[in-house]
Amino acid sequence: MTMDMNKTGSFDVGLTWSNSFARLGPDFFTSLAPHPLPEPYWVGRSLSVAHTLGLDAGWLDSDELLHVLTGNQPLRGTQPLASVYSGHQFGHWAGQLGDGRAILLGETGGLEVQLKGAGLTPYSRMGDGRAVLRSSIREFLCSEAMQGLGIATSRALCVTGSDAPIRRETTETAAVVTRVAPSFVRFGHFEHFSHSGQHDQLKILADYVIERFYPECRTRTDFEANPYANLLQCVSERTAQMVAQWQAVGFCHGVMNTDNMSILGLTIDYGPFQFLDGYNPGHICNHSDNQGRYAFNKQPNIAYWNLYCLGQALLPLIGEQGLAMAALESYKTVFPAAFEALMCAKLGLIDTSTDTAPADRALIEDVLKLLASERVDYTIFWRRLSHSNSGSDAQAVRDLFVDRNGIAAWLLRYSARTNQIDRRVAADLMLKTNPKFVLRNHLGEQAIRTAKLKDFSQVSTLLMLLESPFDEHPDFEEHAGFPPDWASSIEISCSS
Ligand code: AMP
Ligand code: MG
Repeated sequence: MTMDMNKTGSFDVGLTWSNSFARLGPDFFTSLAPHPLPEPYWVGRSLSVAHTLGLDAGWLDSDELLHVLTGNQPLRGTQPLASVYSGHQFGHWAGQLGDGRAILLGETGGLEVQLKGAGLTPYSRMGDGRAVLRSSIREFLCSEAMQGLGIATSRALCVTGSDAPIRRETTETAAVVTRVAPSFVRFGHFEHFSHSGQHDQLKILADYVIERFYPECRTRTDFEANPYANLLQCVSERTAQMVAQWQAVGFCHGVMNTDNMSILGLTIDYGPFQFLDGYNPGHICNHSDNQGRYAFNKQPNIAYWNLYCLGQALLPLIGEQGLAMAALESYKTVFPAAFEALMCAKLGLIDTSTDTAPADRALIEDVLKLLASERVDYTIFWRRLSHSNSGSDAQAVRDLFVDRNGIAAWLLRYSARTNQIDRRVAADLMLKTNPKFVLRNHLGEQAIRTAKLKDFSQVSTLLMLLESPFDEHPDFEEHAGFPPDWASSIEISCSS
């Protein structure tokens, strides 16, 4: 594939670009070009995201696109910019933040394309504007893993690397993730304009988000037809759905600061995230989170806390505290209902009715208690339980527990329930609900170690497995096994 290079030195990859965010005006961003990195190389590429963007897959083999997505060449038609936002970090108002290392190239086919790690911006504060290879591989793989799991997320087209040294606790090397989402607007963008008293800009931003993503907020009659209260409710509902999915699959985000919360209810800003190995409800995946604010079982409440911050930010537009509180209330019904429905699906129970719901709820609570008491591997438990309904015996499930009596008693209750339904239908649902492959820390770590030696095959293998995590992939059993002992010593912090 050869690129068209025009006189100004910019490339064209055959996509049509716009940038609706840029039209919001200069209060919202700073225009600037990405900063180059020497001698870039491809680390990981997603054909699926290329397809979504309408990008001919051949470009992902080209040196030209490699340079463009590492920030070394402009892309014709794009208007690169870094946006300003603020936020609450670890429960405290952090003041102005912003895209400190992410540069939005523009929008194509309704999707924003951002280069994360593309150099200093006016919002870099003490940072260097860069991202290291390690965290970039984690973000790339997890974005596509979440997509494979059916959880709303930003996507990642690729990671490119460079041997340019980057100082963290040790010296590492640089990388850039090309991220894609309909919008990277965060709760923190609203907080920024609200807290600084720029209420005209706050309204411009809210109207922009409603126009593009939540047009129903203009026509809904809830909350006295107040579009901004409706917006808060819509965001609350999407966030509730997203966090319910996190809890059901055992995903811990790790840094749920309000600047990392998407206004579209997408999982964004993958940092010290972790998929649970053994089921430990209080698990803290972020080594920098000393207080355990973002522990796994705190995520649902933290999401509400963050929505409350969004509600406060929107208050100048909503007008009445009571309307904002009423809009937030929806979280308290949508989250538990969504979580329960997802857990019922994990158990293969599709026909939950008012008659069966209390017993089903007890089955869920009790199995989670059993899993927690022995820190049973969360992903393996659910996958084995799924297979036990498709004909294999339940011994493989019992083998996961030391206390055989506890699980045996639970399995008796469970099979009494599944006897009322078609077990094959249940098994089918379970095998599509309970993934065989998740991005465990040690799998990411192994791919990172080999990538540092310029062998990117593990990155490709993991991408392939995580794109279809419900398939058996019989040649990759080791990727679906228990974590090795060293996995528990992996320390993932905010350093990225
Ligand atoms: P995070 O917790 O990674 O989402 O980052 C919080 C804030 O710090 C955001 O505004 C980031 O853009 C910024 N940031 C994080 N790392 C860097 C870095 N290496 N250089 C510049 N800004 C950074
Ligand atoms: Mg962030």
